[in-house]
Amino acid sequence: MRVETDLKLGFKDVLIRPKRSNLKSRAQVKMERTFTFLHSKRQWTGVPIIAANMDTIGTFEVAGVLAEHNMLTAIHKHYTPADWQNFLKDCDSRIYSRIMVCTGTSDDDFGKLAKIAGNHPQLEFICIDVANGYSESFVAFLSRVREAYPDKTIVAGNVVTGEMVEELLLSGADVVKVGIGPGSACTTRTKAGVGYPQLSAVIECADAAHGLGGRIISDGGCTCPGDIAKAFGGGADFTMLGGMLAGHDESGGQLVERGGQQYKLFYGMSSKTAMARHAGGVAAYRASEGKTVEVPYRGPIAETVKDILGGVRSACTYVGAEALRELTKRTTFIRVQEQENRLFS
Ligand code: 5GP
Repeated sequence: MRVETDLKLGFKDVLIRPKRSNLKSRAQVKMERTFTFLHSKRQWTGVPIIAANMDTIGTFEVAGVLAEHNMLTAIHKHYTPADWQNFLKDCDSRIYSRIMVCTGTSDDDFGKLAKIAGNHPQLEFICIDVANGYSESFVAFLSRVREAYPDKTIVAGNVVTGEMVEELLLSGADVVKVGIGPGSACTTRTKAGVGYPQLSAVIECADAAHGLGGRIISDGGCTCPGDIAKAFGGGADFTMLGGMLAGHDESGGQLVERGGQQYKLFYGMSSKTAMARHAGGVAAYRASEGKTVEVPYRGPIAETVKDILGGVRSACTYVGAEALRELTKRTTFIRVQEQENRLFS
């Protein structure tokens, strides 16, 4: 047994230090980034914020709105090939650079991916998602997908340490998804005692990935636009959001009414709710590692998107970053013991 004693940080442990700036307005900040991916060699330009591949978040409806803001949606894996057909037949061709097709790692998943990718060869992104990206079988599946789709941009995860980021990049991933346990609907840290403070995971994994020409997504743990700015400041190339996008018209999940207040159901992909929907219940050998929550109904997602983009733009102006691309370089984190004044919260 070993104990690592150096301090690891979450978003709540830091603030971004302001710096002298000659930017006049946050409207001047360029939010788009351009990446050329390691293996696919594809060039992509867009706002690097992604709706998570959860049943209630990675919906076609969310994708439609986020695409208008040049943001991405990881479409959840439970849509059928027919659903894909239906959605894409009405879409502008620009949608292909704004969506990811997501898959698990079973043979059935591979077959379904082949069908969807075969029907829609313009799809650019494949996201291979498992809760624990450390298993050999996951790495083998990634290599298999890379071999089958040499020119797709492949996202793989989740992991939280540099050595595993390197292994995934060397096994065919262009982008590695980073985060174990920070999610708003996640109970891994209490059920399994496993995890890694998200900001430190991002800082360490970004360093490992960038050394090899790869990219990372900070996945999970953002509770407000300031956390997204901190993830980018820490070196994340992309940030993925679940809970912050829950509760809207475009989110999946049932709308319920109680005491005159409306709520939308939001649940983790390993929650009892998700397992009952997709796997016929929680298997005897496992515990659910996700929550089911009722989120107060929040109306159209476009307002939340504006708030998020405004917050990240504001962070950039405070440190003098004319473009999101410069935010990491201009970020100095200060460790803090309090975040905000809670008098009215
Ligand atoms: P959030 O933005 O809500 O904090 O985090 C979203 C992320 O939480 C997702 O992208 C995914 O990585 C993770 N997640 C989603 N559902 C579950 C779950 O049931 N259990 C765990 N451990 N993580 C989940």
